Amino acid sequence: MRKVSWEGEDGMTEHEGVLVFSEKYDLMLEMLGKGREIADKLQTSLAAVLIGFNVQEKADELIKCGADKVYLADNHALEHFQVEAYLSVLHNLAMSYKPEIVLIGSTRNGKPLAARLATRLEVGCVPDCNKLSVDEKRRLVGERITYGGNAVAKIAFKVKPQIATVPQRAFEKPELKDRSGQVVRLDVKVEEPKTRIVESKPLEVSSVRIEDADVIVSCGRGLGKKEDRVLLDDLATVLCGQVGCSRPLVEDRKWFPEWVGLSGHKVKPKLYIACGISGVIQHVAGIRDAKVIVAINKDEQAPIFEIADYGVVGNLYEILPALKEALKKQLG
Ligand SMILES: Cc1cc2nc3c(=O)[nH]c(=O)nc-3n(C[C@H](O)[C@H](O)[C@H](O)COP(=O)(O)OP(=O)(O)OC[C@H]3O[C@@H](n4cnc5c(N)ncnc54)[C@H](O)[C@@H]3O)c2cc1C
Repeated sequence: MRKVSWEGEDGMTEHEGVLVFSEKYDLMLEMLGKGREIADKLQTSLAAVLIGFNVQEKADELIKCGADKVYLADNHALEHFQVEAYLSVLHNLAMSYKPEIVLIGSTRNGKPLAARLATRLEVGCVPDCNKLSVDEKRRLVGERITYGGNAVAKIAFKVKPQIATVPQRAFEKPELKDRSGQVVRLDVKVEEPKTRIVESKPLEVSSVRIEDADVIVSCGRGLGKKEDRVLLDDLATVLCGQVGCSRPLVEDRKWFPEWVGLSGHKVKPKLYIACGISGVIQHVAGIRDAKVIVAINKDEQAPIFEIADYGVVGNLYEILPALKEALKKQLG
């Protein structure tokens, strides 16, 4: 693929269209909303790439979410994510249709996939874009949190296709519209994977993923012992929420399997209750999109109070049981 540079180039038209892919279906829908906005601004088309086995019935919803076209790679060899196989589909597409922009879901699988695609095409890739826009030169501009959450980098591309990855919940899932589009079935030669899945085991995680929770009751080093987690579980049950935590409770104390923050899960709940969490930048980077933040901390100088909508200065061991009882009465 010939790379197109903006400097003195005449090949602006060689690449056209926005391509969206994630093996995580919900994320693909979220990206289609943003992709539609970008495609409209560039007056170009939006396509979704649907890869898997027996997945074609999903094409209709992708079109209703804004795709003009759905490229369908439906093959037994694509039933489970394998980076080489999925890469061959995207690489073939990029070579044949020459999209201007490729958006890939920023998942554990999507990130290496995007990086490999960019390497094969010899172009750049901007990971984890929380914001995407188009500048006056038609360039895609991605914004991502950097320097441990202390800065936001705004990055524009120099060559096409412009590849960016998008984390979950960065954009809203669009409303379904009654629209029509085209489904293009791809006849792709699937690359032989260099790895083999020997066994898959489900992770021991709660039934609702923390990124999807509307309410999160989260604890930090203020929690004295593992068994005290019951205080958080109780409050989370009353509020129909999930329990989360700061990184030291996973990395150092090994009490929980996953944490919230810059290097953990970025969450976007309606309500985030931070109990015994100091609120350093690495934690806050993962909760800044929460609608309402309530902080409970015995240190009135704790930085968490700077970003909290409501702050309670006090001991979580007294406040959590009292809050649970009050809410139980209130909610019946
Ligand atoms: C590269 C890098 C990435 C990182 N990524 C993350 C990340 O993604 N997520 C993350 O969380 N951290 C991350 N960290 C770690 C981060 O820097 C902090 O060390 C961590 O967030 C602190 O966790 P904490 O708030 O639970 O603990 P502390 O900072 O020790 O805070 C404990 C708080 O509890 C309060 N407290 C104590 N007892 C009580 C009580 N009984 N009642 C009420 N309050 C009480 C204290 O006043 C204090 O404010 C990262 C660090 C690095 C270097």
